[in-house]
Amino acid sequence: MNRVFYDFHIHTALSPCGDEDMTPNNIVNMALLNGLDAIAITDHNTCGNVRAVAEAAAETGLMFVPGMELETSEEVHVICLLPDLDTAERFSAHVDNCLPNIKNKPEIFGRQILFNSRDEEAGEHGKLLITATSIDLYTLVKLARDYGGVPIPAHVDRSSYSIISNLGFVPWDLDIQRVEFSKYAEPEKYMADHAGAFQKKLKYLRSSDAHYLKDIAERENFLDLEGPVNARSIIMMLRE
Ligand SMILES: [Zn+2]
Ligand SMILES: [Zn+2]
Repeated sequence: MNRVFYDFHIHTALSPCGDEDMTPNNIVNMALLNGLDAIAITDHNTCGNVRAVAEAAAETGLMFVPGMELETSEEVHVICLLPDLDTAERFSAHVDNCLPNIKNKPEIFGRQILFNSRDEEAGEHGKLLITATSIDLYTLVKLARDYGGVPIPAHVDRSSYSIISNLGFVPWDLDIQRVEFSKYAEPEKYMADHAGAFQKKLKYLRSSDAHYLKDIAERENFLDLEGPVNARSIIMMLRE
């Protein structure tokens, strides 16, 4: 049995709301300092920085899982974890086609910075990333699975952009096995207190949703895996 301490919800400075210190090496080093074994990068509606962070992590012992925080047409945030970089980039291109053609206004929303693995700026993403895609929740769940990934509704305990806040409940026929709780949530208590909102029995993850380095999780949330530990085996476990 391998115990993996994780944080699967971290934004880089590519998210307009992400701090500009959220560079590949800063994130990797903070995760290592905090004693984490595995992280995922989950920018809003893009995987634009996953390759740079993966390369930064590859030189360390930190395991990296490509990811995205996608906003559905219902304005529900969903963490999508993907099995490898090429798949993540194909998924990202698909999602980009489902974003409205609105240019980012950096002075209002913040910059959307692309990095290379040495933390050098490689450009800025032109389209506004913090907005709803045209992909509805059911379509997204199928899409993420078709790409070999796993969809996990994000921060279900929050009062905005969550499946519970926006739909009122988790539908029984939605093909998900887990939801994500935010950093300070008490998942068991929340699910007991809101039993009517959960039409099916679900497992859960808890991640930081860090937009600042100081908010990246410590060694607090873990998964126990049988067999090898890599992005693919983590996703396989989370799909079950
Ligand atoms: Zn969110
Ligand atoms: Zn987030």
